[in-house]
Amino acid sequence: MFVDIAKITVKGGKGGDGAVAFHREKFVASGGPDGGDGGKGGDVVLQVDTNLSTLADFRYKRKYTAPSGTNGSSGRKNGKKGEDLIIRVPLGTVVKDAATGKILADLSDDQPFIAAKGGKGGWGNPHFATATRQVPRFAKSGAPGEEWELSLELKLIADVGLLGFPNVGKSSFISVVSQAKPIIADYHFTTLTPVLGVVSMGEGNSFVIADIPGLIEGASDGVGLGHEFLRHVERCRMLVHILDAAGSEGRDPIEDFEKINAELEKFNPDLAKRKQIVAANKIDLATDEQLERLENYMREHGYDFYRMCAPIAEGTQQVINAVAAELAKLPPVVRYERETITPAELPVEKGQNYTIRVEDGVYFVEAEWLLKILQRTDLDDYEALQYFQRVLETSGILNSLVERGIQEGDTVVIYDFEFDYVS
Ligand code: GDP
Ligand code: MG
Repeated sequence: MFVDIAKITVKGGKGGDGAVAFHREKFVASGGPDGGDGGKGGDVVLQVDTNLSTLADFRYKRKYTAPSGTNGSSGRKNGKKGEDLIIRVPLGTVVKDAATGKILADLSDDQPFIAAKGGKGGWGNPHFATATRQVPRFAKSGAPGEEWELSLELKLIADVGLLGFPNVGKSSFISVVSQAKPIIADYHFTTLTPVLGVVSMGEGNSFVIADIPGLIEGASDGVGLGHEFLRHVERCRMLVHILDAAGSEGRDPIEDFEKINAELEKFNPDLAKRKQIVAANKIDLATDEQLERLENYMREHGYDFYRMCAPIAEGTQQVINAVAAELAKLPPVVRYERETITPAELPVEKGQNYTIRVEDGVYFVEAEWLLKILQRTDLDDYEALQYFQRVLETSGILNSLVERGIQEGDTVVIYDFEFDYVS
């Protein structure tokens, strides 16, 4: 089965805990603090693998957690970093934050995407030694890794998308103009995974055509294989609409043409406006009247019209030449940009649980929901920082700190985030 949409949960590894330890040596009375830091947790990383063509692997495995860092130990030995967990995805996978629907990454090259960072390792007790606190009996725990729910959507990277009802000859076409060898058969939906064909124009010039599962009526309402199909042509630079000129399955090619364009319009109006040329296939079976009627209709509606008999490569080179000429005028394949998420968009329920641990003037606040805000937003941004302060207030955390006796200048530690308290 062809799967091109998936939802997964990714979680970075937990950071290792910092150690509380003191230097011990024979005949040395009381050594200084020497607990090592915890190792960072592993990241979850998404990486393109060009051997993959679907997201089918994600149907059964949905949760991915990277290994934790190890704890620090005495003698200032730092813990080991957790290994990164690499998840392989097909080229053209668009990653969205499931909660907000915002785009996080477009995996359309070999650039990896860190989907969930591992938590930082906690500091060992030497970090907490000060002139007045020479024997710190506490260390910092490792931070939990980021945890996100992601939507993955495969949007193929191809210059040209083939449009057409099942059995009009799309697979036949791609198999004669490129090296691709799709299944060609006279039953519907033989193309169950997208097939990409590279068309070489000589002198290092080439482009990619995508043959995708056939479109059927009602596709934009999610019937049959429709949506997968439409999603894939979404970022093609242009479309070649293949018609069965002979209407050999009892349908009218003009009706087919209008139906598919109506589906495109419903799914994404931009797509309906994209450059489209028409290739009338099965001319060996069509009558002159059928061909003239079709050609007149296309001319009237402003479409370039070509005739072909794909299996014997008759007329296919003309289509390819026309495509190459069009592509030279068109902008490159769309790459989706990362979208910013404002703190207020994050579905965080305030007033959830938290714990406060006080160690010798240092206030450790722990709350996984708070971590989400810290991770997804940029606290160097004034607005985000303001929002964060409001959250501390409305959740009751600030009040609790005061109740626990916090003084001006004391340190507050919220995972990686540290600040001095000012009333
Ligand atoms: P797709 O479903 O659009 O990919 O169509 P296929 O390429 O799999 O072709 C469907 C059937 O039509 C196959 O049996 C092909 O051999 C046949 N076919 C494709 N093009 C032509 C053509 O130009 N003339 C004739 N007579 N048959 C064709
Ligand atoms: Mg096919």
